[in-house]
Amino acid sequence: MKGLMQDWPLTVMSIIDHAKRFHGEREVVTRTVEGPIHRTTYADIHLRARKTAQALTKLGVKQGDMVATMAWNTYRHMEAWYGIMGMGAVCHTLNPRLFAEQLTYIINHAEDKFIIFDTSFVPVIEAVADTIPNVKGFIILTDKAHMPETKLKNVYCFDDLVEAEDGNFDWADVDENDACGLCYTSGTTGNPKGVLYSHRSNVLHALAANSADAIGLRSVDAIMPVVPMFHANAWAITFAAPAAGAKIVMPGAQMDGASIYELLDTEQVTTTAAVPTVWLMLLGHLEKTGAKLPALNKVVIGGSAAPRSMIETFERDYDVTVMHAWGMTELSPMGTLGAFKAGMEDLPFEKKLDIKVKQGRAIYTVEMKITDDDGKELPNDGVAFGHLMVRGPAVAASYLKGEGGQILDEDGWFDTGDVATLDPLGFMQITDRAKDVIKSGGEWISSIELENTAVGHPEIVEAAVIGIVHPKWDERPLLIVVPKPDTKPTKESVLAFMEGKIAKWWMPDDVVFVDEIPHTATGKIQKLALREKFKDYKLPSASAAE
Ligand code: ADP
Repeated sequence: MKGLMQDWPLTVMSIIDHAKRFHGEREVVTRTVEGPIHRTTYADIHLRARKTAQALTKLGVKQGDMVATMAWNTYRHMEAWYGIMGMGAVCHTLNPRLFAEQLTYIINHAEDKFIIFDTSFVPVIEAVADTIPNVKGFIILTDKAHMPETKLKNVYCFDDLVEAEDGNFDWADVDENDACGLCYTSGTTGNPKGVLYSHRSNVLHALAANSADAIGLRSVDAIMPVVPMFHANAWAITFAAPAAGAKIVMPGAQMDGASIYELLDTEQVTTTAAVPTVWLMLLGHLEKTGAKLPALNKVVIGGSAAPRSMIETFERDYDVTVMHAWGMTELSPMGTLGAFKAGMEDLPFEKKLDIKVKQGRAIYTVEMKITDDDGKELPNDGVAFGHLMVRGPAVAASYLKGEGGQILDEDGWFDTGDVATLDPLGFMQITDRAKDVIKSGGEWISSIELENTAVGHPEIVEAAVIGIVHPKWDERPLLIVVPKPDTKPTKESVLAFMEGKIAKWWMPDDVVFVDEIPHTATGKIQKLALREKFKDYKLPSASAAE
Protein backbone atom coordinates (compact mmCIF):
# COMPACT_ATOMS: atom_id res chain seq x y z
CA MET A 1 0.00 0.00 0.00
CA LYS A 2 1.32 3.44 -0.95
CA GLY A 3 1.46 6.25 1.58
CA LEU A 4 -0.93 9.12 1.08
CA MET A 5 1.47 12.02 1.44
CA GLN A 6 2.30 14.77 -1.05
CA ASP A 7 4.96 14.14 -3.66
CA TRP A 8 7.05 17.24 -3.03
CA PRO A 9 10.19 17.11 -5.16
CA LEU A 10 13.43 17.68 -3.26
CA THR A 11 14.97 20.44 -5.40
CA VAL A 12 17.64 22.93 -4.37
CA MET A 13 15.28 25.72 -5.49
CA SER A 14 13.00 24.78 -2.60
CA ILE A 15 15.88 25.69 -0.28
CA ILE A 16 16.37 29.22 -1.59
CA ASP A 17 12.55 29.66 -1.80
CA HIS A 18 12.33 28.76 1.89
CA ALA A 19 15.16 31.16 2.76
CA LYS A 20 13.48 33.99 0.85
CA ARG A 21 10.07 33.42 2.42
CA PHE A 22 11.06 32.81 6.02
CA HIS A 23 14.53 34.33 6.32
CA GLY A 24 14.38 36.98 3.60
CA GLU A 25 16.02 39.60 5.82
CA ARG A 26 18.96 37.37 6.83
CA GLU A 27 22.31 38.64 5.59
CA VAL A 28 24.87 37.27 3.19
CA VAL A 29 28.08 39.21 3.77
CA THR A 30 30.98 39.04 1.31
CA ARG A 31 34.54 40.25 1.17
CA THR A 32 34.33 40.97 -2.54
CA VAL A 33 37.05 40.14 -5.00
CA GLU A 34 37.11 43.88 -5.77
CA GLY A 35 37.89 44.55 -2.09
CA PRO A 36 35.04 46.15 -0.12
CA ILE A 37 32.63 44.28 2.15
CA HIS A 38 29.24 43.77 0.49
CA ARG A 39 25.98 43.00 2.28
CA THR A 40 22.89 41.45 0.75
CA THR A 41 19.99 39.25 1.94
CA TYR A 42 18.44 35.91 1.04
CA ALA A 43 15.50 37.79 -0.51
CA ASP A 44 17.86 39.61 -2.83
CA ILE A 45 19.93 36.52 -3.64
CA HIS A 46 16.67 34.80 -4.59
CA LEU A 47 15.68 37.67 -6.88
CA ARG A 48 19.07 37.93 -8.56
CA ALA A 49 19.26 34.14 -8.97
CA ARG A 50 15.98 34.25 -10.90
CA LYS A 51 17.33 37.12 -12.99
CA THR A 52 20.47 35.03 -13.65
CA ALA A 53 18.24 32.17 -14.82
CA GLN A 54 16.40 34.57 -17.16
CA ALA A 55 19.67 35.92 -18.56
CA LEU A 56 21.12 32.44 -19.13
CA THR A 57 17.91 31.38 -20.88
CA LYS A 58 18.26 34.37 -23.24
CA LEU A 59 21.87 33.38 -23.92
CA GLY A 60 20.59 30.02 -25.12
CA VAL A 61 21.36 27.82 -22.11
CA LYS A 62 18.94 24.88 -21.95
CA GLN A 63 17.78 22.53 -19.23
CA GLY A 64 20.48 19.88 -18.73
CA ASP A 65 23.29 22.06 -20.12
CA MET A 66 26.53 22.40 -18.17
CA VAL A 67 27.47 25.88 -17.01
CA ALA A 68 30.82 26.21 -15.27
CA THR A 69 31.81 28.59 -12.50
CA MET A 70 35.34 29.45 -11.41
CA ALA A 71 34.86 31.67 -8.41
CA TRP A 72 35.66 32.31 -4.78
CA ASN A 73 32.95 32.22 -2.16
CA THR A 74 30.93 35.38 -2.81
CA TYR A 75 27.27 36.41 -3.01
CA ARG A 76 27.55 36.60 -6.80
CA HIS A 77 28.80 33.03 -6.95
CA MET A 78 25.81 31.98 -4.86
CA GLU A 79 23.42 33.85 -7.17
CA ALA A 80 25.01 32.15 -10.17
CA TRP A 81 24.67 28.72 -8.48
CA TYR A 82 21.00 29.05 -7.71
CA GLY A 83 20.35 30.70 -11.09
CA ILE A 84 22.02 27.87 -13.02
CA MET A 85 20.44 25.08 -10.98
CA GLY A 86 17.10 26.91 -10.88
CA MET A 87 16.79 26.94 -14.65
CA GLY A 88 17.46 23.20 -14.73
CA ALA A 89 21.06 23.47 -15.91
CA VAL A 90 24.03 21.90 -14.11
CA CYS A 91 26.47 24.04 -12.16
CA HIS A 92 29.98 22.76 -12.74
CA THR A 93 32.40 24.20 -10.19
CA LEU A 94 35.96 24.53 -11.53
CA ASN A 95 38.93 24.58 -9.19
CA PRO A 96 41.16 27.51 -10.24
CA ARG A 97 44.21 25.84 -8.70
CA LEU A 98 44.23 23.10 -11.35
CA PHE A 99 46.80 23.15 -14.14
CA ALA A 100 45.74 24.44 -17.58
CA GLU A 101 45.81 20.93 -19.12
CA GLN A 102 43.53 19.59 -16.37
CA LEU A 103 41.10 22.50 -16.83
CA THR A 104 41.00 21.94 -20.58
CA TYR A 105 40.31 18.26 -20.05
CA ILE A 106 37.57 18.89 -17.50
CA ILE A 107 35.80 21.68 -19.43
CA ASN A 108 35.81 19.63 -22.64
CA HIS A 109 34.82 16.41 -20.90
CA ALA A 110 31.89 18.11 -19.17
CA GLU A 111 30.95 19.97 -22.39
CA ASP A 112 30.50 23.24 -20.54
CA LYS A 113 28.49 25.83 -22.53
CA PHE A 114 29.41 28.95 -20.56
CA ILE A 115 32.00 29.80 -17.94
CA ILE A 116 31.16 32.28 -15.19
CA PHE A 117 34.21 33.54 -13.30
CA ASP A 118 35.80 36.14 -11.05
CA THR A 119 37.90 39.00 -12.41
CA SER A 120 40.95 37.42 -10.78
CA PHE A 121 40.68 34.36 -13.03
CA VAL A 122 40.76 36.19 -16.37
CA PRO A 123 44.36 35.03 -17.02
CA VAL A 124 43.49 31.43 -16.08
CA ILE A 125 40.56 31.35 -18.49
CA GLU A 126 42.49 33.19 -21.23
CA ALA A 127 45.21 30.54 -21.00
CA VAL A 128 42.76 27.75 -21.88
CA ALA A 129 40.31 29.66 -24.12
CA ASP A 130 41.76 28.31 -27.39
CA THR A 131 41.46 24.71 -26.21
CA ILE A 132 37.76 24.69 -25.23
CA PRO A 133 35.78 25.03 -28.48
CA ASN A 134 32.40 24.07 -26.99
CA VAL A 135 32.28 27.10 -24.69
CA LYS A 136 29.96 29.70 -26.24
CA GLY A 137 30.69 32.61 -23.94
CA PHE A 138 32.22 33.96 -20.77
CA ILE A 139 30.48 35.83 -17.95
CA ILE A 140 32.60 37.85 -15.54
CA LEU A 141 31.30 38.11 -11.98
CA THR A 142 31.54 41.86 -11.48
CA ASP A 143 29.87 45.17 -12.30
CA LYS A 144 30.43 47.44 -15.30
CA ALA A 145 32.91 49.65 -13.43
CA HIS A 146 35.22 46.71 -12.68
CA MET A 147 35.04 44.86 -16.00
CA PRO A 148 38.64 43.89 -16.83
CA GLU A 149 40.40 44.13 -20.16
CA THR A 150 40.43 40.75 -21.86
CA LYS A 151 41.15 39.20 -25.21
CA LEU A 152 38.36 36.66 -24.67
CA LYS A 153 35.48 36.72 -27.15
CA ASN A 154 31.76 36.73 -26.25
CA VAL A 155 32.31 38.24 -22.84
CA TYR A 156 29.46 39.47 -20.64
CA CYS A 157 29.33 41.40 -17.40
CA PHE A 158 27.36 39.47 -14.74
CA ASP A 159 25.77 42.51 -13.08
CA ASP A 160 24.76 43.93 -16.47
CA LEU A 161 23.07 40.68 -17.43
CA VAL A 162 21.29 40.42 -14.08
CA GLU A 163 20.19 44.05 -13.95
CA ALA A 164 18.65 43.85 -17.44
CA GLU A 165 16.08 41.29 -16.21
CA ASP A 166 12.91 41.68 -14.12
CA GLY A 167 13.13 38.43 -12.12
CA ASN A 168 9.77 37.24 -13.37
CA PHE A 169 10.90 33.64 -13.77
CA ASP A 170 9.43 30.34 -12.62
CA TRP A 171 12.02 27.79 -11.61
CA ALA A 172 12.39 24.99 -14.14
CA ASP A 173 10.14 22.00 -13.73
CA VAL A 174 12.77 19.39 -12.87
CA ASP A 175 12.64 15.91 -11.47
CA GLU A 176 14.35 15.62 -8.10
CA ASN A 177 16.67 13.02 -9.58
CA ASP A 178 17.83 15.39 -12.34
CA ALA A 179 21.43 16.57 -12.20
CA CYS A 180 22.13 20.02 -10.75
CA GLY A 181 25.82 20.06 -9.78
CA LEU A 182 29.09 18.68 -11.09
CA CYS A 183 32.46 18.51 -9.37
CA TYR A 184 35.53 16.64 -10.57
CA THR A 185 37.67 14.70 -8.13
CA SER A 186 41.23 15.90 -7.82
CA GLY A 187 42.46 13.00 -9.92
CA THR A 188 45.64 12.12 -8.06
CA THR A 189 45.61 8.96 -10.17
CA GLY A 190 44.58 9.22 -13.82
CA ASN A 191 42.27 11.86 -15.20
CA PRO A 192 39.86 13.72 -12.91
CA LYS A 193 36.41 12.13 -12.78
CA GLY A 194 33.09 13.97 -12.65
CA VAL A 195 30.72 13.48 -9.72
CA LEU A 196 27.22 14.49 -10.83
CA TYR A 197 24.98 15.53 -7.92
CA SER A 198 21.20 15.50 -8.21
CA HIS A 199 18.73 17.94 -6.66
CA ARG A 200 17.62 15.15 -4.37
CA SER A 201 21.12 14.15 -3.23
CA ASN A 202 22.01 17.78 -2.46
CA VAL A 203 18.81 18.40 -0.50
CA LEU A 204 19.16 15.20 1.52
CA HIS A 205 22.79 16.05 2.19
CA ALA A 206 21.90 19.58 3.32
CA LEU A 207 19.32 18.16 5.74
CA ALA A 208 21.89 15.70 7.08
CA ALA A 209 24.46 18.52 7.41
CA ASN A 210 21.98 20.48 9.49
CA SER A 211 21.39 17.74 12.03
CA ALA A 212 22.58 18.75 15.48
CA ASP A 213 25.50 16.28 15.62
CA ALA A 214 26.73 17.43 12.19
CA ILE A 215 27.33 21.10 11.22
CA GLY A 216 23.95 21.72 12.85
CA LEU A 217 23.18 25.25 11.66
CA ARG A 218 20.39 27.31 13.26
CA SER A 219 18.80 30.59 12.20
CA VAL A 220 20.74 32.44 14.92
CA ASP A 221 24.09 31.21 13.57
CA ALA A 222 26.53 33.09 11.37
CA ILE A 223 28.48 30.58 9.28
CA MET A 224 31.65 31.30 7.35
CA PRO A 225 32.48 28.66 4.75
CA VAL A 226 36.18 29.21 4.18
CA VAL A 227 36.16 25.93 2.31
CA PRO A 228 35.52 27.04 -1.27
CA MET A 229 32.29 26.34 -3.13
CA PHE A 230 34.46 24.66 -5.78
CA HIS A 231 35.76 22.22 -3.15
CA ALA A 232 32.91 19.69 -3.00
CA ASN A 233 30.01 22.16 -2.57
CA ALA A 234 31.66 24.04 0.31
CA TRP A 235 30.80 20.94 2.35
CA ALA A 236 27.05 21.50 1.84
CA ILE A 237 27.08 24.93 3.52
CA THR A 238 25.69 26.86 0.53
CA PHE A 239 22.62 24.63 0.79
CA ALA A 240 22.51 24.04 4.54
CA ALA A 241 22.78 27.73 5.57
CA PRO A 242 19.77 29.03 3.58
CA ALA A 243 17.79 25.94 4.63
CA ALA A 244 18.41 26.95 8.26
CA GLY A 245 18.21 30.71 7.72
CA ALA A 246 21.72 31.19 9.09
CA LYS A 247 23.68 34.29 8.11
CA ILE A 248 26.50 33.49 5.66
CA VAL A 249 29.86 35.23 5.68
CA MET A 250 31.77 34.73 2.43
CA PRO A 251 35.55 35.29 2.63
CA GLY A 252 36.10 35.89 -1.10
CA ALA A 253 39.70 35.50 -2.25
CA GLN A 254 41.50 36.30 1.00
CA MET A 255 42.14 33.35 3.25
CA ASP A 256 45.22 34.49 5.17
CA GLY A 257 45.04 34.48 8.97
CA ALA A 258 44.51 38.23 9.39
CA SER A 259 41.68 38.43 6.82
CA ILE A 260 39.88 35.39 8.19
CA TYR A 261 40.24 36.68 11.75
CA GLU A 262 38.86 40.08 10.77
CA LEU A 263 35.67 38.61 9.28
CA LEU A 264 35.20 36.10 12.11
CA ASP A 265 35.43 38.98 14.55
CA THR A 266 33.48 41.77 12.85
CA GLU A 267 30.68 39.50 11.65
CA GLN A 268 30.47 37.58 14.94
CA VAL A 269 30.77 34.25 13.17
CA THR A 270 29.59 31.30 15.29
CA THR A 271 30.52 28.39 12.99
CA THR A 272 33.19 28.03 10.34
CA ALA A 273 34.70 25.27 8.19
CA ALA A 274 37.97 24.73 6.32
CA VAL A 275 40.95 22.44 5.72
CA PRO A 276 43.77 22.30 8.32
CA THR A 277 46.13 24.60 6.35
CA VAL A 278 43.67 27.48 6.72
CA TRP A 279 43.46 26.95 10.48
CA LEU A 280 47.24 26.82 10.68
CA MET A 281 47.30 30.37 9.28
CA LEU A 282 44.52 31.59 11.59
CA LEU A 283 46.09 30.08 14.71
CA GLY A 284 49.44 31.63 13.74
CA HIS A 285 47.73 35.02 13.51
CA LEU A 286 45.96 34.61 16.85
CA GLU A 287 49.20 33.58 18.55
CA LYS A 288 51.05 36.57 17.10
CA THR A 289 48.42 39.15 17.97
CA GLY A 290 46.94 37.68 21.16
CA ALA A 291 43.45 38.09 19.67
CA LYS A 292 40.53 35.93 20.83
CA LEU A 293 37.27 34.89 19.16
CA PRO A 294 34.53 34.97 21.81
CA ALA A 295 31.62 34.57 19.34
CA LEU A 296 33.04 31.48 17.65
CA ASN A 297 31.53 28.19 18.90
CA LYS A 298 32.39 25.59 16.32
CA VAL A 299 35.18 24.94 13.82
CA VAL A 300 34.70 22.14 11.30
CA ILE A 301 38.05 20.70 10.15
CA GLY A 302 38.24 18.23 7.28
CA GLY A 303 39.75 17.46 3.90
CA SER A 304 42.91 16.21 5.64
CA ALA A 305 43.41 14.90 9.16
CA ALA A 306 43.22 17.56 11.88
CA PRO A 307 46.39 17.29 13.99
CA ARG A 308 45.89 16.70 17.72
CA SER A 309 47.86 19.87 18.53
CA MET A 310 45.47 21.95 16.38
CA ILE A 311 42.38 20.51 18.06
CA GLU A 312 43.97 21.06 21.47
CA THR A 313 44.82 24.71 20.75
CA PHE A 314 41.32 25.55 19.50
CA GLU A 315 39.61 23.85 22.42
CA ARG A 316 41.96 24.82 25.26
CA ASP A 317 43.17 28.30 24.27
CA TYR A 318 40.13 29.61 22.39
CA ASP A 319 37.25 27.66 23.90
CA VAL A 320 36.07 26.58 20.45
CA THR A 321 34.54 23.14 19.79
CA VAL A 322 36.35 21.31 17.03
CA MET A 323 34.26 19.11 14.75
CA HIS A 324 36.63 16.79 12.94
CA ALA A 325 34.99 15.77 9.67
CA TRP A 326 35.81 13.31 6.92
CA GLY A 327 34.36 13.16 3.46
CA MET A 328 35.07 13.14 -0.21
CA THR A 329 33.72 14.63 -3.44
CA GLU A 330 31.91 11.34 -4.13
CA LEU A 331 29.94 11.73 -0.84
CA SER A 332 28.55 15.22 -1.55
CA PRO A 333 30.97 15.41 0.46
CA MET A 334 30.45 14.67 4.17
CA GLY A 335 30.62 11.17 5.59
CA THR A 336 31.47 11.56 9.26
CA LEU A 337 31.64 14.25 11.94
CA GLY A 338 33.02 13.91 15.44
CA ALA A 339 30.24 15.03 17.81
CA PHE A 340 30.46 13.51 21.28
CA LYS A 341 28.10 10.84 22.51
CA ALA A 342 26.49 10.80 25.94
CA GLY A 343 29.01 10.97 28.79
CA MET A 344 32.02 11.94 26.66
CA GLU A 345 31.81 15.63 27.58
CA ASP A 346 32.68 14.64 31.20
CA LEU A 347 35.88 12.78 30.28
CA PRO A 348 39.31 14.25 31.16
CA PHE A 349 40.65 16.65 28.49
CA GLU A 350 43.27 14.23 27.09
CA LYS A 351 40.68 11.46 26.73
CA LYS A 352 38.40 13.87 24.90
CA LEU A 353 41.26 14.67 22.52
CA ASP A 354 41.72 10.92 21.89
CA ILE A 355 38.15 10.92 20.56
CA LYS A 356 38.44 14.23 18.67
CA VAL A 357 41.43 13.10 16.61
CA LYS A 358 39.20 10.40 15.15
CA GLN A 359 37.24 11.54 12.10
CA GLY A 360 33.88 10.93 13.77
CA ARG A 361 30.64 9.05 13.25
CA ALA A 362 28.66 8.46 10.08
CA ILE A 363 25.91 11.01 9.57
CA TYR A 364 22.44 9.66 8.90
CA THR A 365 22.21 8.86 5.14
CA VAL A 366 25.71 7.33 5.14
CA GLU A 367 26.26 3.63 5.75
CA MET A 368 29.82 2.58 6.49
CA LYS A 369 31.92 -0.56 7.03
CA ILE A 370 35.53 -1.71 6.82
CA THR A 371 36.61 -4.80 4.90
CA ASP A 372 39.74 -6.88 4.31
CA ASP A 373 41.31 -7.40 0.88
CA ASP A 374 38.77 -10.14 0.10
CA GLY A 375 35.80 -7.92 0.89
CA LYS A 376 35.06 -9.60 4.24
CA GLU A 377 33.74 -7.20 6.87
CA LEU A 378 36.20 -6.52 9.72
CA PRO A 379 35.22 -6.06 13.38
CA ASN A 380 34.36 -2.61 14.72
CA ASP A 381 36.84 -2.82 17.58
CA GLY A 382 38.84 0.36 16.93
CA VAL A 383 41.92 -1.80 16.21
CA ALA A 384 41.35 -3.73 12.98
CA PHE A 385 41.84 -1.55 9.96
CA GLY A 386 40.69 -2.10 6.43
CA HIS A 387 39.14 -0.62 3.31
CA LEU A 388 36.50 1.97 4.17
CA MET A 389 33.31 1.26 2.21
CA VAL A 390 30.25 3.55 2.07
CA ARG A 391 26.83 3.74 0.52
CA GLY A 392 23.85 6.07 0.71
CA PRO A 393 21.53 8.38 -1.26
CA ALA A 394 24.15 11.14 -1.52
CA VAL A 395 27.02 8.82 -2.52
CA ALA A 396 28.06 8.59 -6.20
CA ALA A 397 26.75 5.59 -8.12
CA SER A 398 29.05 6.18 -11.10
CA TYR A 399 31.20 8.93 -12.61
CA LEU A 400 30.15 11.19 -15.48
CA LYS A 401 30.12 9.34 -18.81
CA GLY A 402 30.93 6.09 -17.05
CA GLU A 403 34.62 6.96 -16.54
CA GLY A 404 36.33 4.47 -14.27
CA GLY A 405 33.69 1.84 -15.09
CA GLN A 406 31.64 0.16 -12.41
CA ILE A 407 32.44 1.84 -9.08
CA LEU A 408 30.06 -0.02 -6.76
CA ASP A 409 30.27 -3.65 -5.71
CA GLU A 410 27.25 -5.91 -6.16
CA ASP A 411 25.75 -4.74 -2.86
CA GLY A 412 26.11 -1.08 -3.79
CA TRP A 413 29.19 -0.30 -1.65
CA PHE A 414 31.67 2.33 -2.85
CA ASP A 415 35.34 1.81 -1.97
CA THR A 416 36.59 5.18 -0.69
CA GLY A 417 40.25 4.32 -1.22
CA ASP A 418 40.83 5.09 2.45
CA VAL A 419 41.98 2.68 5.12
CA ALA A 420 40.29 3.13 8.49
CA THR A 421 39.27 1.69 11.86
CA LEU A 422 35.76 1.74 13.30
CA ASP A 423 35.23 1.54 17.05
CA PRO A 424 32.31 -0.01 18.93
CA LEU A 425 30.68 3.42 19.42
CA GLY A 426 30.82 4.08 15.68
CA PHE A 427 33.79 6.47 15.60
CA MET A 428 35.87 6.07 12.46
CA GLN A 429 39.55 6.90 12.23
CA ILE A 430 41.40 7.21 8.95
CA THR A 431 44.66 5.29 9.02
CA ASP A 432 45.70 6.48 5.59
CA ARG A 433 44.81 6.62 1.97
CA ALA A 434 45.35 3.08 0.72
CA LYS A 435 48.08 4.28 -1.63
CA ASP A 436 49.90 6.31 1.05
CA VAL A 437 50.07 3.69 3.78
CA ILE A 438 53.65 2.55 4.45
CA LYS A 439 54.11 -1.18 4.12
CA SER A 440 56.87 -2.25 6.46
CA GLY A 441 57.66 -5.95 6.90
CA GLY A 442 54.13 -6.96 5.91
CA GLU A 443 52.54 -4.56 8.42
CA TRP A 444 51.06 -1.13 7.79
CA ILE A 445 52.26 2.16 9.21
CA SER A 446 49.90 5.15 9.15
CA SER A 447 51.59 8.16 7.56
CA ILE A 448 48.79 10.36 8.95
CA GLU A 449 49.47 9.36 12.54
CA LEU A 450 53.19 10.03 12.18
CA GLU A 451 52.51 13.43 10.60
CA ASN A 452 50.09 14.41 13.33
CA THR A 453 52.49 13.37 16.04
CA ALA A 454 55.37 15.29 14.45
CA VAL A 455 53.45 18.58 14.11
CA GLY A 456 52.91 18.56 17.87
CA HIS A 457 56.65 19.45 18.12
CA PRO A 458 56.86 23.13 19.04
CA GLU A 459 59.30 23.94 16.22
CA ILE A 460 57.43 22.23 13.38
CA VAL A 461 54.79 23.87 11.15
CA GLU A 462 53.97 21.00 8.84
CA ALA A 463 55.02 17.39 8.37
CA ALA A 464 54.66 14.75 5.67
CA VAL A 465 55.59 11.09 5.78
CA ILE A 466 56.25 8.87 2.77
CA GLY A 467 57.48 5.31 2.39
CA ILE A 468 61.03 4.86 1.09
CA VAL A 469 62.18 1.59 -0.41
CA HIS A 470 64.11 -0.51 2.08
CA PRO A 471 66.07 -3.73 1.31
CA LYS A 472 64.90 -5.53 4.45
CA TRP A 473 61.47 -4.08 5.28
CA ASP A 474 60.15 -3.19 1.77
CA GLU A 475 59.38 0.34 2.92
CA ARG A 476 60.30 2.50 5.88
CA PRO A 477 58.94 5.94 6.80
CA LEU A 478 60.78 9.14 5.93
CA LEU A 479 59.63 12.21 7.83
CA ILE A 480 59.73 15.49 5.90
CA VAL A 481 59.20 18.62 8.00
CA VAL A 482 58.91 22.38 7.61
CA PRO A 483 60.44 24.10 10.67
CA LYS A 484 58.76 27.17 12.20
CA PRO A 485 60.41 30.45 11.11
CA ASP A 486 63.65 31.22 13.00
CA THR A 487 63.93 27.75 14.52
CA LYS A 488 66.33 24.92 13.79
CA PRO A 489 64.94 21.65 15.12
CA THR A 490 67.28 18.65 14.86
CA LYS A 491 66.54 15.11 13.77
CA GLU A 492 67.33 13.92 17.30
CA SER A 493 64.94 16.40 18.98
CA VAL A 494 62.13 15.52 16.56
CA LEU A 495 62.52 11.77 17.04
CA ALA A 496 62.88 12.17 20.82
CA PHE A 497 59.62 14.16 20.81
CA MET A 498 57.83 11.34 18.98
CA GLU A 499 59.16 8.62 21.27
CA GLY A 500 56.46 7.07 23.44
CA LYS A 501 53.70 8.68 21.35
CA ILE A 502 53.82 6.04 18.59
CA ALA A 503 54.71 2.36 18.35
CA LYS A 504 58.50 1.88 18.43
CA TRP A 505 58.66 0.21 15.04
CA TRP A 506 56.73 3.13 13.46
CA MET A 507 59.57 5.55 14.28
CA PRO A 508 60.69 7.31 11.05
CA ASP A 509 64.07 6.07 9.82
CA ASP A 510 65.14 9.57 8.91
CA VAL A 511 64.06 13.21 9.07
CA VAL A 512 64.65 15.82 6.37
CA PHE A 513 64.00 19.54 6.69
CA VAL A 514 62.45 21.51 3.82
CA ASP A 515 61.18 25.08 3.31
CA GLU A 516 57.86 24.00 1.89
CA ILE A 517 55.68 20.94 1.39
CA PRO A 518 53.71 20.85 -1.90
CA HIS A 519 49.90 20.85 -1.74
CA THR A 520 47.19 19.68 -4.13
CA ALA A 521 44.47 21.95 -5.52
CA THR A 522 42.33 21.14 -2.48
CA GLY A 523 45.02 21.75 0.13
CA LYS A 524 46.16 18.20 0.73
CA ILE A 525 49.81 17.21 1.00
CA GLN A 526 50.94 16.15 -2.46
CA LYS A 527 52.39 12.75 -1.64
CA LEU A 528 52.89 11.94 -5.32
CA ALA A 529 55.20 14.94 -5.77
CA LEU A 530 57.09 14.08 -2.58
CA ARG A 531 57.53 10.46 -3.64
CA GLU A 532 58.89 11.71 -6.97
CA LYS A 533 61.27 14.18 -5.27
CA PHE A 534 62.62 11.57 -2.87
CA LYS A 535 62.55 8.59 -5.22
CA ASP A 536 66.32 8.15 -5.08
CA TYR A 537 66.57 8.92 -1.38
CA LYS A 538 68.66 6.43 0.55
CA LEU A 539 67.76 5.89 4.18
CA PRO A 540 70.75 5.49 6.52
CA SER A 541 69.13 2.27 7.79
CA ALA A 542 69.01 0.94 4.20
CA SER A 543 72.77 1.21 3.77
CA ALA A 544 73.23 -0.54 7.10
CA ALA A 545 70.96 -3.41 6.00
CA GLU A 546 72.72 -3.97 2.68
P1 ADP B 1 39.27 16.84 -2.31
O1 ADP B 1 40.57 16.47 -2.87
O2 ADP B 1 38.39 17.61 -3.17
O3 ADP B 1 39.37 17.25 -0.87
P2 ADP B 1 38.70 14.24 -2.45
O4 ADP B 1 37.37 13.65 -2.63
O5 ADP B 1 39.72 14.08 -3.50
O6 ADP B 1 38.39 15.65 -2.15
O7 ADP B 1 39.37 13.85 -1.09
C1 ADP B 1 38.81 12.97 -0.22
C2 ADP B 1 39.89 12.35 0.60
O8 ADP B 1 40.44 13.28 1.51
C3 ADP B 1 39.39 11.24 1.47
O9 ADP B 1 39.25 10.06 0.74
C4 ADP B 1 40.49 11.18 2.52
O10 ADP B 1 41.61 10.45 2.05
C5 ADP B 1 40.90 12.63 2.66
N1 ADP B 1 40.27 13.21 3.85
C6 ADP B 1 39.18 13.99 3.91
N2 ADP B 1 38.91 14.36 5.17
C7 ADP B 1 39.86 13.80 5.95
C8 ADP B 1 40.14 13.80 7.35
N3 ADP B 1 39.42 14.47 8.22
N4 ADP B 1 41.21 13.08 7.77
C9 ADP B 1 41.97 12.38 6.92
N5 ADP B 1 41.76 12.36 5.59
C10 ADP B 1 40.73 13.05 5.11
